[in-house]
Amino acid sequence: MERTLTCRTCGREIIGVNNDYQQTWICSDCYRIKDPTEALGCERGTKIIFKYPENGTEYDQERANKHLVKDKYYTVHLITIGSWSSTIELEEFPGIKFNSVHFERSTKGNRRYRIHIEEAALAE
Ligand SMILES: [Zn+2]
Repeated sequence: MERTLTCRTCGREIIGVNNDYQQTWICSDCYRIKDPTEALGCERGTKIIFKYPENGTEYDQERANKHLVKDKYYTVHLITIGSWSSTIELEEFPGIKFNSVHFERSTKGNRRYRIHIEEAALAE
């Protein structure tokens, strides 16, 4: 279940991020200024790259390599922030939780991010 999270920097609602450990988080717009390639700074609709197949546990690697292609772009559906490990579900593979350590945020295509968010908000 998704809880409403708000950005501690700009105050807007963050879409597609679960965080059971903190009341606030940082939205993808504010995170991009802080760290443009951090995968955990994404929201629903943000593009990420499967860049580090070798990261994570052997189990993480097997699951990721079964579905994903190195250096290919995917779209974030849901990020779940954990205390020591976080997962990312992709639009392309509903229900499969990949370890966030495999990914880097795309610095391309983020201009379209607002449109994705508006579409996501309308769909809910
Ligand atoms: Zn913000």
